[in-house]
Amino acid sequence: MSANPILRLTEAGLYCEPGDFFIDPWRRVERAVITHAHADHARRGCGSYLTSDPGKHPLQLRMGADALVQSIAYGEAVRIRDVTVSLHPAGHVLGSAQIRIEHSGYVAVVSGDYKVDHDPTCASFESVKCHLFITESTFGLPIYRWARSAEVFAAIDSWRIENQAAGKASLLLAYSLGKAQRILASVDRSIGPIFAHGAVEAMNRAYRSAGVELPEIATVQSASKGFDWSKALIVAPPSAWGSPWARRFGEVSTAVASGWMTIRGTRRRRGVDRGFVISDHADWPGLLGAIEATGASEVWVTHGYSAVVARLLLERGIDAKIVSTRFEGERIDSTDDDSLSDNAAAAVSTLTSSDTIDGENGSTDIESSRSVVRNEDAGLLE
Ligand SMILES: [Zn+2]
Ligand SMILES: [Zn+2]
Repeated sequence: MSANPILRLTEAGLYCEPGDFFIDPWRRVERAVITHAHADHARRGCGSYLTSDPGKHPLQLRMGADALVQSIAYGEAVRIRDVTVSLHPAGHVLGSAQIRIEHSGYVAVVSGDYKVDHDPTCASFESVKCHLFITESTFGLPIYRWARSAEVFAAIDSWRIENQAAGKASLLLAYSLGKAQRILASVDRSIGPIFAHGAVEAMNRAYRSAGVELPEIATVQSASKGFDWSKALIVAPPSAWGSPWARRFGEVSTAVASGWMTIRGTRRRRGVDRGFVISDHADWPGLLGAIEATGASEVWVTHGYSAVVARLLLERGIDAKIVSTRFEGERIDSTDDDSLSDNAAAAVSTLTSSDTIDGENGSTDIESSRSVVRNEDAGLLE
């Protein structure tokens, strides 16, 4: 694929031969270096995992108590066989890391998922100079441009106040790792009580143990029978929508917080009342700015609208390639919400039709809402 001495694409994913490890492998491998704990980046069953210190707890939660998870501090350089590896903040979720690999003066950086906007719940994205940059492109289309996050959170607060006046609970659907905590840390705590789905609260604990300040939140299950939900904000994973779990709230206004809400049709087809455009991925200008800042002469684009981004980079004289993402069969049952959207993006990477994106989300939702209900009963995260 490339003359670079560090990375190549294999059947199991990105492989670093001089270090003999995989990055975010698609299959079970002996040694995995993990950018972050979302299901499309971290698979169970590997021999060992290396991630960042703040990412250790979320990864252990997702990989299971038996998994061997090791961690290093951001910026700490370690020698793995013939390469030097260090992890640098990706600004995506707690502990998310770009992986820098150096071998004989040549530097490759694997971004994982990233965003450049400020997020009070994780370390900010750090630009790392390199020869080869491997970038995600989940929202790699010019239509994706995020508003300032303060404006979006103000809109969420107004929506809660409107709902209270109408006697309705506010059910806000957001990924249980990352988005949910960003919302909880940013909404106005004085408006009313805040509750979380069990999967969200499990991750909240990981965030608190890493020193992230979150408001006092009760779990939905802890509320007394007959509780009046009409003043409450409830934060739950998107897969909880339409499940029996969500029926207890009585009159409810439902909203989704996602970058996909940019496309009006997505919200309409999901049948929710509101969509708030807020993402833990870089938008179009964010992606292009981050790529340029690396100074990389070679860029591999993966995980989203890779063809669009790669074409633009080629026009700018950068040696750009598309690296296709592969998914295992069981992924359709995954309850990791990030992966659902990422799957949808990958599946339609050559299309821009909102109908196609809706269709992907719609079909996976049915599967995942079932597993969330089952798993919450069992007290498991996934
Ligand atoms: Zn992610
Ligand atoms: Zn991802």
